[in-house]
Parts: sequence; C-alpha cells; structure tokens
Amino acid sequence: MNKVYIALGSNLANPQAQLTAALQALNALSDSRLTAVSSFYQSKPLGPQDQSDYVNAVACLETSLAPLALLDELQRIEHEQGRVRLRRWGERTLDLDILLYADHIIQSERLTVPHYDMHQREFVIIPLVEIAPHLVLPNGQSIQTLAQKFADHHMVIVKHKNEIHLEN
Ligand code: ATP
Ligand code: MG
Ligand code: MG
Repeated sequence: MNKVYIALGSNLANPQAQLTAALQALNALSDSRLTAVSSFYQSKPLGPQDQSDYVNAVACLETSLAPLALLDELQRIEHEQGRVRLRRWGERTLDLDILLYADHIIQSERLTVPHYDMHQREFVIIPLVEIAPHLVLPNGQSIQTLAQKFADHHMVIVKHKNEIHLEN
C-alpha cells in the first residue's frame, strides 16, 4: 500500500456536501482506504477573485492503485460530481489533486507529483500539517517548516475533523 495525500476543494453547489461526497467516493475506491481527513477550511479563491470562497481539506489515502490509475479515479469522481472547466482556477464543484504519492517524484504529461504549487498554498499546507505533523517531503523539507510561513493564516474551520464521519 502507498500513502497518498489528496487535496480537496469546492466553491459551488454546497461545497461541504461536495467534499463529504468526495471523501465517501475515495473511501470506496478499490484497494484503498482513507486513513485521515483534515478539518474543512474556508479559504479565499486563487486566481479570479469574482468567485465564491472555497472549502478545502486534505485526506490521506492508503492505496495500491498506481499513480495514473488513481488520477483516472479522481477525474472520474470530479466528473461525477459535475466538474466543468470554464476558466483556469475558476469556480468548480470539486477539485481533487494528488499532493504526494508516497515519496515518488513524477513528471509526466498528465501528472506532476509532488503537486507543483503546494508549498505556496495555505489551504493545502495547513490542513496537511493538521493530519501529518511529522511529514517530510521527498526533497527533505519538513511540513513544519513549510507551515511556518502560514502561521498567521485567516482561514476559518467550518467543520472540525472530529465531526467528519464516513460510512463503510
Ligand atoms: P492546479 O493544478 O493549479 O491546482 P487545477 O487543480 O484547477 O489547478 P485541473 O483543471 O484540476 O487544475 O487539472 C488540470 C490537469 O492537471 C489535469 O488534467 C491533470 O492531468 C493535471 N495534473 C498534473 N499533476 C496533477 C496532480 N498532482 N494532481 C491532479 N492533477 C494533476
Ligand atoms: Mg487544484
Ligand atoms: Mg485539479
């Protein structure tokens, strides 16, 4: 089994319900199980500012799916939850990004892992440090060091991780 961290985001059609449905779908993937889910954080949009705030979270999935097979599944779940691509970093019902896949470094046409911009995003780093405080990235950087930059973030927790319950 490989330990994979996945970023979830939504700012359309009841974002909290979108994330909950996506977590349920991730937990139902074959040869996979969710082992940790962060709290849900409300965050300001990246890119175009004329869109609603986001709800973001990070989950840890233990899976034997290969990286591209997992990406296929994530894109299927996005599609099933009504994802439409209108403009870059625009509004969406659901975004599922692979942040880390074990300690693999992947650079292919469809997949860049670690996620190319995770270091710059408080809505990724803060939920990630919540569920994996001892994590070290493949380049040797600790999540604690990355999180220092966002110590004074202003995101609000809209659902605490203790309140997130998944059906089997
Ligand atoms: P960003 O990647 O900056 O967060 P985005 O999530 O809005 O932007 P998408 O439209 O969801 O971008 O994805 C565009 C493409 O990114 C996908 O078709 C996918 O092949 C590719 N991609 C590359 N690396 C990853 C990754 N680590 N996780 C998910 N998709 C990835
Ligand atoms: Mg994204
Ligand atoms: Mg994406």
